[in-house]
Amino acid sequence: MIAIISDIHSNLEALEAVLKDIKNRNIKNIVCLGDIIGYGANPNECIEIIKKLNCLSVVGNHDYGVLGKESLDFFNELGAIAILWTKKVIKPENLKFLDSLPLIIEEKIKGKKVIFSHANPKYPEIWEYLYPDYTNEVFDCGDLIFVGHSHIPFVNSEEGNLLLHEGKISLEDDKKYLINPGSVGQPRDGINKASYCIFDEKSFKIEIIRVEYDIKKAYEKIVSSGLPEWLGERLFLGR
Ligand code: ZN
Repeated sequence: MIAIISDIHSNLEALEAVLKDIKNRNIKNIVCLGDIIGYGANPNECIEIIKKLNCLSVVGNHDYGVLGKESLDFFNELGAIAILWTKKVIKPENLKFLDSLPLIIEEKIKGKKVIFSHANPKYPEIWEYLYPDYTNEVFDCGDLIFVGHSHIPFVNSEEGNLLLHEGKISLEDDKKYLINPGSVGQPRDGINKASYCIFDEKSFKIEIIRVEYDIKKAYEKIVSSGLPEWLGERLFLGR
């Protein structure tokens, strides 16, 4: 069993709730699909937790923004404000950790080529969003392609969307899949619970799981840190 988490976005309350859920299921393998920071109030705490997990992790566009590897023009106004705020508070050793993360990880799991990437793995530094109805050339990249970035949890095959928001689905051996675990720290599918997924490589199933967390606490920390209030408000709305 592998738990795949993505888009934590400095939301410590959501990350802790998701990791508790993963621990309760006795899952030891975790992969992180990037954007550990940006938007929320606890970048250092979130990076330190991911570091300690010693899990596989790729880099995301917000991580790139804080590293100065992506222009602030690429981000919307509030995203750019959050990156500037994060740059001020991030510890040098945590910045170094973000800088050590690869854009793509490729693994062989049960004979399948499995790709982990923040955005479209075809052009990782373009940061192209892949949405639930995506049925395009990305499927040449691998058999199972895990991406984050859009904050929308879904499972889809070359024929189109199979699962949205939450639930379990059996994968077929001869098909290719694109899977987004959704966002831990800033879900945008209208559901305000943190989102992640589990890949059961033995039964060949994917489950998208939603976890409640203390949104109020995350909101209050965003406001008291001087970050834009909307970055806290949107957590209640899941968008
Ligand atoms: Zn993100």
